Amino acid sequence: MNRRDLLKYLDDLGWRDVDTAAATTGRPARAAGKPAPPRAAAGGEDPLAAGDLAEMGRRLADCRRCRLCQGRTQVVFGVGHPKAHVVFVGEGPGADEDRIGEPFVGRAGQLLNVMLPSIGLRREDVYIANIVKCRPPGNRDPQPDEAAACLPFLKRQIELIDPEVIVLLGRIAARFLLGTTAPISTYRGRWTVWHGHSVLPTYHTAYLLRNPAAKRESWADLKQLKKRLTQEEGKG
Ligand code: URA
Repeated sequence: MNRRDLLKYLDDLGWRDVDTAAATTGRPARAAGKPAPPRAAAGGEDPLAAGDLAEMGRRLADCRRCRLCQGRTQVVFGVGHPKAHVVFVGEGPGADEDRIGEPFVGRAGQLLNVMLPSIGLRREDVYIANIVKCRPPGNRDPQPDEAAACLPFLKRQIELIDPEVIVLLGRIAARFLLGTTAPISTYRGRWTVWHGHSVLPTYHTAYLLRNPAAKRESWADLKQLKKRLTQEEGKG
């Protein structure tokens, strides 16, 4: 593979921090006349080393780990209660989220906002995030390497929040968190466990907007969520 192909390959993978000149010539990038990308001081600016969500969000604001940074307006980190009992995970920001900087603020988010009170939750009680934090161009599905670049941060967010339940909104969230590629209709509403957290996959609210008939199953899933949270409350 020549240098140009290797650079393109690494770029496609989102490996922007790699010293590509050194990888191909053995010389550091600076010596090749190319400014090295700013590097995190050991542990200093590493988002994964941040002690809380706010600091982690600040450290991720200039993220360039994958190609999605090229088309985004801003990183959409996540929103909600830092110690939420429930974390909702969607797919990735759409146009409204990209503009405003908050997940689920468009039509799909408005539906989520009306669904939450039906089981006694408010938006500010829960935490909402996505598999990828930058808007995929044209709202396409996130690609596996983009999800892989972003997932450590979602995992760390979940670790910091330590919720009782994670609700996966749609097949993309389930695919990248659970590794399942089956149709979501075959496993929605079925509890599973991921890293010690109870996980409930259900339909994405954008899907519900397109397929209102699926709201019946979605409501059944929400009732399960409420039941589980009530049980957990009883334990605590
Ligand atoms: N759809 C998602 O999956 N996430 C958002 O933030 C908005 C819409």
